[in-house]
Amino acid sequence: MPTMNTQVLFRAAPAGMPTQDCFDIVETPLPRPDDGQFLVENLYLSLDPYMRMLMGGGWMFRGGGLTPGQIMVGRTIGRVTKTQNENFAEGDLIVGGLGWQTHAVSDGGNIDFRITPRDNVPLSAYLGACGNSGTTAWFGLKLIGAPKPGETVLVSAAAGSVGSVVGQLAKVWGCRAIGIAGGDEKCAVVTGEFGFDACCNYKADDLAGQIAAVAPNGVDVYFDNVGGEMLDGILPLLNNYARVPVCGVLSQYNADGDWQGVRNTRLIFDKRLRLQGFLQSDFADRGDVARAELANLVGSGKLRVRETVAEGLANAPSAFIDMLNGANMGKQLVKLR
Ligand code: NAP
Repeated sequence: MPTMNTQVLFRAAPAGMPTQDCFDIVETPLPRPDDGQFLVENLYLSLDPYMRMLMGGGWMFRGGGLTPGQIMVGRTIGRVTKTQNENFAEGDLIVGGLGWQTHAVSDGGNIDFRITPRDNVPLSAYLGACGNSGTTAWFGLKLIGAPKPGETVLVSAAAGSVGSVVGQLAKVWGCRAIGIAGGDEKCAVVTGEFGFDACCNYKADDLAGQIAAVAPNGVDVYFDNVGGEMLDGILPLLNNYARVPVCGVLSQYNADGDWQGVRNTRLIFDKRLRLQGFLQSDFADRGDVARAELANLVGSGKLRVRETVAEGLANAPSAFIDMLNGANMGKQLVKLR
């Protein structure tokens, strides 16, 4: 039984892209659960773009961000190793907001859901395709994008955790799926491994022309993970009554006050577009339904899981920076145990 807990603390806000100096790695005594609490050994840590917003130095998350010295916020998969809580037994596998640390004490309030392991679904997938990324894709596409069979769904950051699930769900639900990703290598994975119909490289010339060539009937749903200029350039390609679930703004997270707006607002009127921002938590009451479908799809091989996995908590800061720079394919995780 370990006696120490390793933690990554937030040290200081970055200017632009985070650096190693923004983090401190410390060792503290292993916490002990009091009455009503349990101790969790974390197995995997999820790294997500929203953490950049919490670090401030530009665009601060609504409701405030991290304060220096605070444990970096994040979701983990963990195993209960000691318990004084009748609702959580030793050995239970959970997903919760337990932070960038190897161990945590919880009273259950920050636990999202319990994992029931099943065949053909890797445990780590409960932070990706069968976890928060998957439900974000499912909620945004199904409840806001509302695609009909035969329609064309376009998604940005398509080689990433949320985007890869969006396109695969679009295919399962009878649509044509087109991805946008940063590079030919990523595009090859988006079509070859995730089974999208086409993928456009936004780092090459003329993204709008590339999309128009593979979407001759226009775009009915644009699942927007990027915002900014990319959204602006895609508006002319949308069909009348197209839906735009606005899931995130990757182009903006490191931009210190460098806001990029949508210029073609007239198109929103002309085409009667519906743009709706959303948070995964807005639809938390449907989490069980979404996770069940996602786990069934992964278990039956219809939803491919791809992960980029860093080893050990000490490598979490560099893996996080690499993810923001686009080095990840699929879900970015850190294996802690
Ligand atoms: P991800 O796509 O797995 O990883 C981030 C990817 O973003 C990178 O691999 C990179 O891919 C791309 N990227 C970085 N900077 C970019 C830029 N300036 N322009 C275009 N692409 C850029 O991350 P994820 O966890 O799946 O998150 C995807 C989006 O969903 C993010 O906006 C995130 O904030 C959002 N999200 C929202 C919710 C919600 O509740 N609304 C929940 C989860 C995630 P390339 O190499 O292709 O550039």
